[in-house]
Amino acid sequence: MDSEILNCSEKTYMHRPPSSVEEVSTIVKILSASANSTFSIRSGGHSPNSGAANAKWGVTIDLRGLNSIDINSDIYNLQVGTGLTWNEVYQAVDGYDRVVIGGRTGSVGVGGLITGGGISAFSPVYGFARDNVLNMEVVLASGESVNANASHHADLFAALKGGQNNFGIYDISTVEEQLAAFTAFKNPANFDPFAEIKQSYLYYGAEDQGSVSNIMYYSNASAAMASLQRFTDIKPQALNTMRISNSTDFSAELTRYQPMDQYAVHATATFRVSPTILKKVYDAWNATNLSIAGDVLNLTSVLVYQSIPALQPASASPNSLGIPPDSHPERNQVLCLVSLYWPLEKDSQLVQQATQSIIRAVDALTAEEGVQVPYRYLNYAASWQSPIGSYGPASVEVLGVFRRNVPGGLKLFD
Ligand SMILES: Cc1cc2nc3c(=O)[nH]c(=O)nc-3n(C[C@H](O)[C@H](O)[C@H](O)COP(=O)(O)OP(=O)(O)OC[C@H]3O[C@@H](n4cnc5c(N)ncnc54)[C@H](O)[C@@H]3O)c2cc1C
Repeated sequence: MDSEILNCSEKTYMHRPPSSVEEVSTIVKILSASANSTFSIRSGGHSPNSGAANAKWGVTIDLRGLNSIDINSDIYNLQVGTGLTWNEVYQAVDGYDRVVIGGRTGSVGVGGLITGGGISAFSPVYGFARDNVLNMEVVLASGESVNANASHHADLFAALKGGQNNFGIYDISTVEEQLAAFTAFKNPANFDPFAEIKQSYLYYGAEDQGSVSNIMYYSNASAAMASLQRFTDIKPQALNTMRISNSTDFSAELTRYQPMDQYAVHATATFRVSPTILKKVYDAWNATNLSIAGDVLNLTSVLVYQSIPALQPASASPNSLGIPPDSHPERNQVLCLVSLYWPLEKDSQLVQQATQSIIRAVDALTAEEGVQVPYRYLNYAASWQSPIGSYGPASVEVLGVFRRNVPGGLKLFD
């Protein structure tokens, strides 16, 4: 059982921040030559899984020095360094009146979000952030650097892309209405490609209190946002910051709400919506919170419902996630994220076990209703889950990179 203080590193034997692809290449050549060296790769450092982005007693290749941004003259293409945060990317394109398909929270890194998938405010139309990448400059395990795109190293390109607002806070008394609103939102007949919502149920153990937050985006400023109105109409609301603004502003707002300097675990499940499943999952999550709150100091537990991004055409963008391209998961599937935060290391084992029991309960409930979907989103998966295994054998075949000396992160046979 391992857990990581969010956004902090365990003791690293050596820390060497390269500032160019050539330097990364040299470092990888040296490390690959030694069977005993372990190393890890870090971009934004947001993975809560221990060892994912820092090698205990090994080498952490910290990519924050790869932080250049080149804006193509037609302003439709960008070249961005993996070590940038999304807020830095959004700021760079603000002056051009453009937006980039990237993370919703500004402090998340480019590298981890894209290699894991990447859910953005525009995902109901434009899909995962990874599906909007045209080319990746990749350092192979040999140290050689290559360009991977749809015509060169296309298998590697596909593998890399899967191998790795606005705010409303509501009273917990609105739970039933919130669940009903999200169930209606996920009815395929109500699908609205401009609407994106991340609905979170929060439990604070110290006060034995809860709340609900809806982070909502509507990407057509000139249309009435009828599909989100069922959420905005719910009362009482403790906070409402609905406004028209840009991604820099929204992503900075979300960064302010992230709990830092705490232990954290994320775990995930996917299922199709039904009239009853959201409430059943909520009840299972809530029951587990109550069962451990007395033993875990200052527990915060969050249950999130959101949509799967729309898949982009397979020809333009190889899909290694094992999701049938014509299945339209964005219309009726729910991506469920469970996040627990706690301040004391001594509680880690209990919280990890509780998180596993929530996911087991979700799996049992969704199987019982016949709505379970195997897909596990890599960027939300716990170290004890197998997101790449969930893509199916055909995708696992393609995804075979960097296994020997990079112990952290989620891999083929975790
Ligand atoms: C506060 C918060 C908000 C979030 N919001 C969103 C969101 O809106 N949408 C979403 O989809 N996800 C979101 N996530 C999940 C996020 O996408 C993942 O945690 C992601 O892996 C973080 O990327 P990073 O570069 O910051 O992290 P890191 O911890 O640096 O990296 C995560 C993993 O990716 C690997 N990696 C990073 N860069 C590279 C690279 N260049 N080459 C190879 N491997 C690399 C690392 O080795 C590590 O295993 C959020 C997470 C947090 C904690």
